[in-house]
Amino acid sequence: MPSRTDFVFLAWDNGIVPGSALALIPAHPNWKNLHAAAVGCRACDLWRKGTQTVFGEGSVSAHVMLVGEQPGNEEDLAGHPFVGPAGRLLDRALEEAGIDRADAYVTNVVKHFKWEPRGKRRIHKKPNAVEIAACAPWLAAEIELVKPHVLVCLGATAAQALLGRTFRVTQHRGESLGSPLAPRVMATVHPSSILRAPDDEARRRERERFVEDLRVVAKELAGHRG
Ligand code: SF4
Repeated sequence: MPSRTDFVFLAWDNGIVPGSALALIPAHPNWKNLHAAAVGCRACDLWRKGTQTVFGEGSVSAHVMLVGEQPGNEEDLAGHPFVGPAGRLLDRALEEAGIDRADAYVTNVVKHFKWEPRGKRRIHKKPNAVEIAACAPWLAAEIELVKPHVLVCLGATAAQALLGRTFRVTQHRGESLGSPLAPRVMATVHPSSILRAPDDEARRRERERFVEDLRVVAKELAGHRG
């Protein structure tokens, strides 16, 4: 049976051998030494783009871990994950679903902001398979450290990184799945996709569906606590 860490690597079935950040993982990882090591990571070229490493945050004894794609513009500047508009939407949705934010650890598949200029703005650019694979050891170490009861993949990049490249969020969103990564794993959309909905009505509908998905997580957490 592969360990959680092994499974994160096995999740990449794209033929790229991941692990370039692996040599940086401390022998006895805790959040503090992981964070300190990740700050100096140069395992892929994204450190040149981003202002700083944005490592995961939250309680290391959290029962739920939420994984997004990469830090956004505000997160990159602040150095903290999920503090921008998508993070604020996530916070409110968690509250509505009955999930205690203090019991959640939030992180991203890739720890540096990848962007391209559009006028004066920095526009999000999707990380590629090499960058995702290079950054995988950090996420594997976080999962190993926190050992969440429920792992939530926010969006296709996180879902495909953790559940395999053929996984489709559109087909399986909101389903509570078993996995070697955590007792329960669930995939839903990234909150930033809700913000990009074409109009208010679509945004309201998408937000409602998102909260419904998080209620599945809340139910799993309540069942776990007994
Ligand atoms: S994106 Fe990840 S692997 Fe690449 S430099 Fe940043 S922390 Fe290292």
